[in-house]
Amino acid sequence: MTARVRVTAGGSLLFHCPGCGNTHAVRLRPPGQWTWNGNAELPSVQPSVNVVGRCHATIRNGRISFTPNDTTHALRGKTVDLPPWEDAAQWDSEVDRDAKENP
Ligand SMILES: [Zn+2]
Repeated sequence: MTARVRVTAGGSLLFHCPGCGNTHAVRLRPPGQWTWNGNAELPSVQPSVNVVGRCHATIRNGRISFTPNDTTHALRGKTVDLPPWEDAAQWDSEVDRDAKENP
């Protein structure tokens, strides 16, 4: 099994973003924020994750799709596999805390 996400003790779900190269975090608790299907290998997360002005993505079944209009990096409009969490060393350790639920 290849985990693509990690859940922190505080109830945040983390994943490595192949589009902007950062680690994004969304809050699963308290209820009413993001929901996750509980599958670390083929995660689905709702709603979309929007780092405004940079990176707006939907995660479904282990793949991440970037919006064509309000994503600014090279993967805009594309869908790719979420990278394995185990490859963390190659990623920026920054965790975005400004990801907002898509209105
Ligand atoms: Zn990103």
